[in-house]
Amino acid sequence: MNKALKLLLSTLFLFSLASTIVSISHPPKKIHRVLIIEGQNNHRNMKEGSQAMKGYLEETGIFKVEILSTPAKGGDMNNFDPDFTKYDVVLSNYNGDSWSQKTNQSFEKFVKNGGGVVVVHAADNAFPKWEAYNKMIGIGGWEGRNEKSGPYLYWDETKQKIVRDTVAGVGGSHGNQHEFVVTTREKSHPIMKGLPVEWLHQKDELYDRLRGPAENITVLATAYSPKEQNGSGKNEPMLMTLTYGKGRIFHTTLGHENYSQKCVGFITTLQRGSEWVATGKVTQVVPNDFPTREKGSTRK
Ligand code: ZN
Repeated sequence: MNKALKLLLSTLFLFSLASTIVSISHPPKKIHRVLIIEGQNNHRNMKEGSQAMKGYLEETGIFKVEILSTPAKGGDMNNFDPDFTKYDVVLSNYNGDSWSQKTNQSFEKFVKNGGGVVVVHAADNAFPKWEAYNKMIGIGGWEGRNEKSGPYLYWDETKQKIVRDTVAGVGGSHGNQHEFVVTTREKSHPIMKGLPVEWLHQKDELYDRLRGPAENITVLATAYSPKEQNGSGKNEPMLMTLTYGKGRIFHTTLGHENYSQKCVGFITTLQRGSEWVATGKVTQVVPNDFPTREKGSTRK
């Protein structure tokens, strides 16, 4: 063997030894597969929002995200029949026509068997008549929702807990868009652990008076909807977790516009909520640029 070849072989050996050691000390992170569903939404920034959320999830290094569009409004929903079982998480950025019975049933089966779901903003307006979906989102708004849909959920400052209100009335409203403070109500939940208890959210629609079955639900954070902004005057659920069968759901009412979704509070809770629905745990660290009560924080 000539010298050059010997040197090459020993160099290759050292390289492979080094890479073996590196892979032993840093086992590859488990990648969670996410399907974002869009295609119909009453929000004109739907496509930008889906792309932004794909980016936010993938930058954590623990998600691989695909975006799937349904047929357009009035289209043949029989053409929308995704294999949900290929994914760990389905993120809904969808608010539109009913899916086919077959697709509804395969989605219900996916969640019952342990599939994760993330519901973002207007996705909780969708499917007012689909019983299982309403159990997954817990509470929703508009599309004819009322006292028959279930109670309102509010944080009661005196009782220091979430209360259910079955009084008759519309399900779903919001006042003027504005910046508002989000307050954690479940500090030890994996999604919220380590976050400031109060943080200033960017300008957004503050969804209020949502109502629904509200079963197996934990309200992680609320925000006060001021009457001066044409709101409900109540502490409204903003971030929630639910279970449906073996499946976990994270529901954020935040994220009306691009500027709302650029809030580091929206981004971080979306990233952590998506990991929690996939695994029941959160391994991500809280970013240094997380907003405080006084100072909002955005990313480009
Ligand atoms: Zn909106």
